[in-house]
Amino acid sequence: MPRSIRVEPAKTLRLSTISDAAKRMRDQYFVAERAHQLSKYGERQSHALGMTSQPLHASSNAILAALPADQFSRLTRHLVRVNLAREQVLYETARPFRHVYFPETCLVSVLADMENGTTVQVAQIGRSGMLGIYLALGSQNAAHQAIICISGTALRMPAEMFLQEFRQPGVFHKAVLHSIRRQIFTISQHVACNRIHNVSQRLAWLLLSIHDHTGPAEFSITQEFMSGLLGSARPEVAKAAHEFRTAGYIRYTRANVTVVNRVGLEAAVCECYGAVRKEFDSPRKPGYIPF
Ligand SMILES: [Zn+2]
Repeated sequence: MPRSIRVEPAKTLRLSTISDAAKRMRDQYFVAERAHQLSKYGERQSHALGMTSQPLHASSNAILAALPADQFSRLTRHLVRVNLAREQVLYETARPFRHVYFPETCLVSVLADMENGTTVQVAQIGRSGMLGIYLALGSQNAAHQAIICISGTALRMPAEMFLQEFRQPGVFHKAVLHSIRRQIFTISQHVACNRIHNVSQRLAWLLLSIHDHTGPAEFSITQEFMSGLLGSARPEVAKAAHEFRTAGYIRYTRANVTVVNRVGLEAAVCECYGAVRKEFDSPRKPGYIPF
């Protein structure tokens, strides 16, 4: 039966600029590993850990929402709704996949991490996509680190069950392929952006994309975390954020940000934001799946 849990196995956070977050993640890792071990022994042990069961009738994830009702119903046997906390690590680079994720209300950052500890975001995945595309492409290991940028829910599926379903021709197969094409486009745009555009432009892209996901609500994100996503020194990010606040584009208190002037941010952002938005908002194209 589908169930909801609050923890996910995770290894040490490797964002070198997020030392406090790394400590939290190390503590969480032991709790999460224990939860994962016990969850294999069924519902009774899950309840012993404070996990709750709830029926799974629908999902706001676009890939799953595109499925015919009977196919979605069949998939629910393999799906678990999980609550994912900000800065929680879902994948480590070159580590085997255990699950794929279909984000609902959470937003995931995919990071390239360098040998010197520097990280930089190469993609963001929200409710329109899925996490784990390299599994569909034949790899057993994650190509990049994946970390929760905005907390929320996702539906999680064991890797072997995902492959079993993906290999069957049909709507699910096509929807996953469509998500892969979009992610390749997004990653390509990030590569160009990280090479050419400045911190201020890239911060505007980050804030606008989060705002697209969360709507008008304020969201929590620290300057340390943003510097890890942008691959830039924290003082540079702080300077850009200060300029946006002075210009009245954002309100920023501690780790809470509210976008108050989208038009201002849209004037400050580079072309990359619009290019990715266009890809995601595009009308029908060959291979387009309407969701
Ligand atoms: Zn750019």
